[in-house]
Amino acid sequence: MTKINIVEAPEGYSGSGFFATSFEKVIGLARSYSLFPLPFATSCCGIEFMATIGTNYDISRFGAEIPRFSPRQADLLLVMGTISKKMAPVLKQVYAQMAEPRWVVAVGACATSGGIFDTYSVLQGIDRIIPVDIYIPGCPPRPEQIIDGLMEIQKMVQNEGLRRRNSEEYDILLQSYNI
Ligand code: SF4
Repeated sequence: MTKINIVEAPEGYSGSGFFATSFEKVIGLARSYSLFPLPFATSCCGIEFMATIGTNYDISRFGAEIPRFSPRQADLLLVMGTISKKMAPVLKQVYAQMAEPRWVVAVGACATSGGIFDTYSVLQGIDRIIPVDIYIPGCPPRPEQIIDGLMEIQKMVQNEGLRRRNSEEYDILLQSYNI
């Protein structure tokens, strides 16, 4: 019978009847395969996300199939769509209400840079108001691209040190956004 590896084991030492690794790696592995996304969808890119969670692309293969519409229950903010300057404070508040550790993905051209809407009323990229971890290009991005972005976030989550969120550098980053 073929041996099935569901996920790769973290680096560690193994021998007969034991496997030892660091606490940090176990936590990283568990977090990366149990992300709770909050879809902040304002326009067309949100439809691509709907396709991504549907059966054909099946985001549950990555352990991220349960969207949460309360920021208090989510750890991955997916911003999809055009963000107007009027909407910006709402997005910032949603981010502020998420508990640490939290990650942010800008899905599509609008969330990344304002996209085609180079106008006075549209925010020219959400990184003007909140820190972003991954940018997904495209107008709209295909579900494959959204999955690729999710996998990049998973790598980031797996390799993040447990102390990062308490570091001075992280404080400075948040202060630069007035958070
Ligand atoms: S990037 Fe394109 S598809 Fe996505 S919200 Fe903007 S206009 Fe719509």
